[in-house]
Amino acid sequence: MNPIHVFKFGGASVKSADAIRNLATIVKRYSTKNLVIVVSAMAKTTNALEEVLMHWMNGDFTALEKKLNEIEQFHISAAVELVDGNKNHVLIAELQTLFTQLKNQFSQVPSKGYDYHYDQVVSFGELLSTRIVSHYLNYIGIANSLIDARRCLRSDTSYREGVIDETTSSYLCQREFDFTSANIFLTQGFIAGTEVGTTTTLGREGSDYTAAILANLLDAQDVTIWKDVAGVLSADPKIFSNAVKLDFVSYQEAIELAYCGAQIIHPKTIKPLQNKKIPLYVKSFVEPDAPGSTIAHSDTPVKLPPVLVLKRNQVLITLTPRDFSFVIEDCLSKIFALLYKHRVKVNMVHNSAISFTVCVDDDKLRLSQALEDMKTDFVVRYNSHLELLTIRHYTPEVIENLVGNRVVYLQQRTRSTSRFVMDRQ
Ligand code: ASP
Ligand code: MG
Repeated sequence: MNPIHVFKFGGASVKSADAIRNLATIVKRYSTKNLVIVVSAMAKTTNALEEVLMHWMNGDFTALEKKLNEIEQFHISAAVELVDGNKNHVLIAELQTLFTQLKNQFSQVPSKGYDYHYDQVVSFGELLSTRIVSHYLNYIGIANSLIDARRCLRSDTSYREGVIDETTSSYLCQREFDFTSANIFLTQGFIAGTEVGTTTTLGREGSDYTAAILANLLDAQDVTIWKDVAGVLSADPKIFSNAVKLDFVSYQEAIELAYCGAQIIHPKTIKPLQNKKIPLYVKSFVEPDAPGSTIAHSDTPVKLPPVLVLKRNQVLITLTPRDFSFVIEDCLSKIFALLYKHRVKVNMVHNSAISFTVCVDDDKLRLSQALEDMKTDFVVRYNSHLELLTIRHYTPEVIENLVGNRVVYLQQRTRSTSRFVMDRQ
């Protein structure tokens, strides 16, 4: 069989009818190859659906309806434009069916918990976008089959953070992506299905992970993530003006960067690729001929300039055992068990004899529950609205420039990496 290439198009690459036309020109060039195309929700639809969910949970039906209408108008008008104004095209009817399914949920009381309902609502972003892209490609003669990701990626019931069962998913993927019957398949990023067919999601920005796991399960030759930037950059150009493109990044470096909070790719993306040595290309959908960046295996260390990652909305929590016991193994394991139980993401830790400090994302809901739980055994103090700056391959000058006159709450330095928890600027 010819090699399989996996493409991932994120929200920005499908943000409008024009963007979807651009996507189609890219796909057209590769249309004789075996392709699996993973698509995210259009533009900021995921955020918009999160708002809808919030309104439902709060019982604010006026706000809910307003937001839903916006989402509906946005999708329908892009779709109508793509099929040359033909409101009778089957695509429009299919989108309307999806909107009816979405809305039907809101006539009930959200009684099954936030995470469960999150997945049932927010997954519609990808269900809608893939319907539009798939129909449009077919409409302009790029024949493709739309696969429902919930039928090929089997997850457990950890809503909002579905864990993929690779063995079952591998079997399902071989069955669904049948390259003897077609050569271009399109599917949703970010979503999966449980054994009984309930929808789960894989964590925000999880479409990269979908692309990687599909590449792994289908033994693809490579994965290309098409983005609105030139490739992997040494910093976020919106924050640091002298960002440069990195031509080559090893898997190891990429996983470190993603863990520190770099927005290049979802942190879970690298492992499935590294396990099968599948290279990942990050390319610009604006300049598809430009070389982009390659993330792949490297036997020797690759020299990189200083790479900056800024994570905002951080909270620094300090825990002191109420009974004044040392922060040693049993105490640490108790703290980590609590953090794990509440799914609080740990970004940096530090301990002294009788205190433990941890820097975490400010996920309000999870954090407030975790803090409550911690108060049983610990005196809890915390600072919020902080930033965590990571500088990989630092130089003294870069540290001086970025940290010199800032208030630093916590810092750590290894030979390759410096990290600073600071007040926001
Ligand atoms: N649409 C989802 C999100 O915005 C998944 C993704 O874009 O990768 O988080
Ligand atoms: Mg997105």
